[in-house]
Amino acid sequence: MVEYDLDRVKAKMTREVLQRRPASMWRYRELLPVQNQQAVVSLGEGWTPLLSLDRWAKSLPVGQIWVKREEQNPTGSFKARGFSVAVSLLQERSIRKAAVPSNGNAASALAAYAARAGIEAYVFVPQDCPGMFVREAVSFGASTWLVDGLIHDAGKIIEDGKKEHGWFNVGTAKEPGRLEGKKTMGLEMAEQMGWQLPDVILYPTGGGSGLIGIWKAFRELKALGLVQGEMPRFVSVQEEGCTPIVDAVKKQTTQVIPPANPPASSPTGVRVPRPPAGALILSILRETEGTAVAVTAEEIADAQRILGAHGISASPEGGAVAAALLWLCDSGFIRSDDRVVLFNTAHALKYWHYPAPREISVIREYREME
Ligand SMILES: *Cc1c(COP(=O)(O)O)cnc(C)c1O
Repeated sequence: MVEYDLDRVKAKMTREVLQRRPASMWRYRELLPVQNQQAVVSLGEGWTPLLSLDRWAKSLPVGQIWVKREEQNPTGSFKARGFSVAVSLLQERSIRKAAVPSNGNAASALAAYAARAGIEAYVFVPQDCPGMFVREAVSFGASTWLVDGLIHDAGKIIEDGKKEHGWFNVGTAKEPGRLEGKKTMGLEMAEQMGWQLPDVILYPTGGGSGLIGIWKAFRELKALGLVQGEMPRFVSVQEEGCTPIVDAVKKQTTQVIPPANPPASSPTGVRVPRPPAGALILSILRETEGTAVAVTAEEIADAQRILGAHGISASPEGGAVAAALLWLCDSGFIRSDDRVVLFNTAHALKYWHYPAPREISVIREYREME
C-alpha cells in the first residue's frame, strides 16, 4: 500500500483548495501515487453523485440512506477509478503491455484506459461472463480471451504467460494503482457529505480492494484532520454460494474460506472464491465492528427492483447491498438513526443477456493461446 508524506499533503490539500478543483477524482492528486501529472490517463472518471434515498429510508428503521452512483463512471463501473491510476502508473514508467484476469468490469476498464494511453491490453474473463463485457473489451481493441474456469484460472494464465509476452499483470493486489484509485470513492464520499462520515458502509466484496480503499481513504482523511470521529462500520456483501468472507466472519477465523463449488450465476463482480486481500478485509470488518452478509439471487433481483423504483439502474452487486440493508434492518445491526451509504458499483445494462462475439477463443491454459 502506498504511504504518503501526510504533513506535506496537509499543507497543500485543504478543504478550501479542494472546493476550487475540478469535479474529478484527480482533485485528490496529492493522495494519488502519480508524480508526473502529464502521465495521468483520464476518461472523466469519479466525482459520481451521492444520492439520498429519503422515501425508501422513511419506510425502514434507518436514519438516512445514500447511494454512491458508481455506474456513472466511464465503462459503467467503479473499476474505471482503479484503472485510471494503474494505467497512469504504467504510462509514467513507459510500460506498454498490460494484462488482467477479470469477471468483466476490470476487463472493459483496462481495455478503455489502455486504449486511451496507447498501451496494449490483454484481458481474460470466465467463459460465462456476460457478452456485453466481452464486446466492450473487444471494441476498445483489447486482445480478449474467454477462460474455461473462474477468475483465478484466468490469473494463472497471465502468470504463466507474462514472461514470454512481457505483460504487466494489473490484477487485484498486484500493483498499488488500482487500490489507490478505488480509494477516491471514500475521499469523495466524505467531501460530498460535508466532511462527515456515515455510520455504516455496505460494499459488494469481490477481491476486496474497493472496501480496503475506502477504509484507507478514511484513515488518511483522519490523519489529515479533514474528518473526525468514529470509523463507519464496514459491511461486506456477497452472494450465497460464493461467500469466503461471510464464512470466515461466521467461523471467526482470520483466514478466508474458499467455497467448494461457486455457482456460475453469481453477480460477476463478487464471484471471487479466493480474495487476494482476504485477511485485511476480515481485520477491517472486525476493527470497525462491521459484519458480512450473504444474500440470495432472488433477494438481489428483488432489491434491484427496489433501487429501480427510485430511478437507479442497479447492477446485481448494487442490488446485493440493497438486499443486505434489508437483512441488517431486520437483524437489528442497523440502528434507527444510522446514516448508511450503499455502493451501486456498476450499471445494470451491462449485465443484459447478449452473446459474446463468436470469434473469441475459449482456453483453459496458457499453452492453448496461439
Ligand atoms: C469488481 C467489482 C466488485 C468487487 O469489488 P472488489 O474491489 O474486487 O471487492 C463489485 N461490484 C462490481 C460491479 C465489480 O465490478
